[in-house]
Amino acid sequence: MTRQEVFNFSAGPSVMPESALLSAQKDLLSYGSTGVSVMEMSHRTPMFEEIFNGTKQKLRDILGIPDNYEILLIQGGATLQFASIPMNLIEDGFADYAITGNFSKRAANEARKYGEVRLACDTTETGHDRIPTQSELKISEGAKYFYYCSNNTAFGTEWNYVPETKSPIVCDMSSDILSRPVDVSKYGLIYAGAQKNMAPAGLTVVIIDKALAGKHLPITPEVMEYDTLIRTDSLLNTPPCWCIYMLGLVLDWVKTQGGVEGMEVLKREKSKKVYDLLDNSKFYIPHALASARSDMNITFRTPSEELDAEFVKDAAAKGLINLKGHKVAGGIRASLYNAMPMEGVDRLVSFMKEFEAKHV
Ligand SMILES: *Cc1c(COP(=O)(O)O)cnc(C)c1O
Repeated sequence: MTRQEVFNFSAGPSVMPESALLSAQKDLLSYGSTGVSVMEMSHRTPMFEEIFNGTKQKLRDILGIPDNYEILLIQGGATLQFASIPMNLIEDGFADYAITGNFSKRAANEARKYGEVRLACDTTETGHDRIPTQSELKISEGAKYFYYCSNNTAFGTEWNYVPETKSPIVCDMSSDILSRPVDVSKYGLIYAGAQKNMAPAGLTVVIIDKALAGKHLPITPEVMEYDTLIRTDSLLNTPPCWCIYMLGLVLDWVKTQGGVEGMEVLKREKSKKVYDLLDNSKFYIPHALASARSDMNITFRTPSEELDAEFVKDAAAKGLINLKGHKVAGGIRASLYNAMPMEGVDRLVSFMKEFEAKHV
């Protein structure tokens, strides 16, 4: 199949804006008039410095990141942050963790190696189909931070509010960053693996209130110390240069779409088409409660596992690929990240209607 015939619903790495891929293709052998590819540049050269600073500035502008926050562009994925966060912030105290999906659960398990974790909530019992309300959260007095994951990629739920806490908020925004405006000043630290909504895999973005850095545990590896990463401007060691360049191109595209405000309007319109179908169907079974639905990852089932598998296979034959659910959640998952075109959503909705008609 050609790129024009395929719509990629992968949860990550996922679809990229075509304009970013085309710019990268144009620059692949020679970046501007430099005669070298970005892949071949030293991260210590003025050429790369320009790309690096440009990407940071674009992100700062698009998300409205205040000056007292530093942007780190580093390696290790979101998963490394599961350890970096407690190592840098928990000191000899404890932290509150809201468990609403598998990634927040893994983050809490990792944090237990370095300090005390208190559960603000845990939705395991209902299969992570909901997000607790503010009054359901157990907020500790004296916690070093409050941790949550704003969008649960595997189970398809999303927080539609920022919790009120008594400690700095740390948030994993891997799968919904850049899909909506965020008041960064409400957070102590925001982080995201780039491969969902930002760039190719290999880059992690950390946005940190500089006042929180400098309290890491003595065992913290140097490459994970936030104060060291701030001091060296993420250049303690080699950063993921190519991904940083790609993030710059994706941010240019987001800007042409009206920034994060534009992305929010678009994502609502896209997810509504699928949720309206699910709500009017006697065949499909949505996973998330209506109050907690994610606009990024839509999770649902058919009446049987056999039909789920048939759905995924038939869809792929029509160019609608990667609709299989996450291994811990099962079922079907359609990821509608920023770069998924409306045409992909319309094609998915038509296919879902046809498939339902064939089986009821
Ligand atoms: C994908 C994902 C992760 C894991 O990211 P890696 O970069 O693979 O470590 C963590 N949290 C969320 C919410 C994710 O979607």
